[in-house]
Amino acid sequence: MVGGGYIGLEVAEALRNLGKRVLLFEMMPHVLPTTFDEDMAKLIHDELIKNGVELHLNEKVVGFRGVNGHVNKVITEKGEYNIDKVVMGVGVKPDVDLAVKAGARLGETGAVWVNEYMETSVPNVYAAGDVAETWSLITGKRMYVALAPPANKMGQVAGANAVKGRFLKFPGVLGTAVTKVFSLYVARTGLTERQAREEGFKPVSTTIKARTTAHYYPGGVQVNIKMIIDESSGRVLGVQVIGPDKIIAGYIDVAAALIGKGATIDDFFFADLSYSPPTAPIWHPLITAARVLSKGKY
Ligand SMILES: Cc1cc2nc3c(=O)[nH]c(=O)nc-3n(C[C@H](O)[C@H](O)[C@H](O)COP(=O)(O)OP(=O)(O)OC[C@H]3O[C@@H](n4cnc5c(N)ncnc54)[C@H](O)[C@@H]3O)c2cc1C
Repeated sequence: MVGGGYIGLEVAEALRNLGKRVLLFEMMPHVLPTTFDEDMAKLIHDELIKNGVELHLNEKVVGFRGVNGHVNKVITEKGEYNIDKVVMGVGVKPDVDLAVKAGARLGETGAVWVNEYMETSVPNVYAAGDVAETWSLITGKRMYVALAPPANKMGQVAGANAVKGRFLKFPGVLGTAVTKVFSLYVARTGLTERQAREEGFKPVSTTIKARTTAHYYPGGVQVNIKMIIDESSGRVLGVQVIGPDKIIAGYIDVAAALIGKGATIDDFFFADLSYSPPTAPIWHPLITAARVLSKGKY
């Protein structure tokens, strides 16, 4: 498997479940390099290794060899490996040919430039989804995010505006995403700590372990939550959650809803979230993370 992004991880799991030996090559120091910080990605590394995936990090694939049209070797910057199948999952590029032929301008990300109405630079031509550029709800900067929920909403905006004129506006994205890696669920929204630094924020983060139920209630599991804030404003910039229960998708959705509205750690602390012993601890894990970052205020 070439590439340790979402697709690479899902394919690696599927192939292991079929009983195949799997070598996963990722040229960056950790899997999910554009969406998770390294400290959180290490939890995913442990899960991959535990399930027999042979992880080759910091190892760029530079070629293949084969005989009679069949690949039998992968060549990396560090060595050569005998293999009998290759799956490439090295990222997504928008297919802009048709738009370019129509005279539509491309944005700085290489995707089709659109405004908040999903209008391209060509009158009466709209673009939406994986072909179109979008922008960050946090920084306002142009970005390219190939995910289904924004694609569907951009499509809704484009369709409505094509019929009714400038009727709906697309607000932007946080890159909220969730996937499953063997028995772990991994989810993220907003900026990673590294991205926050690159964007000029002064990020401070905490990583906590929390239970999914009241501590005395049977069946709860431990999850890991990383929260990143801007030190000067207290604004929450990003959250990453990893744990063996799909409840974490709900945590990331709560975080995304708040971060999308510019929430600070105060807003997280006072979010009126639910509690009952089988479903949550009395201090919701997101609130606990915000409390830690409040440096004793809460
Ligand atoms: C393996 C995989 C797993 C994924 N899993 C997730 C996930 O779990 N969660 C998530 O949020 N996102 C996921 N995604 C991303 C998600 O599928 C895309 O973001 C989403 O499908 C984008 O929708 P779209 O309509 O822009 O493009 P598409 O769904 O790609 O649809 C575009 C359609 O246009 C057609 N087309 C292209 N050119 C022409 C033409 N010239 N004329 C006519 N038709 C044309 C194509 O054939 C295609 O059917 C996944 C993607 C892949 C590849």
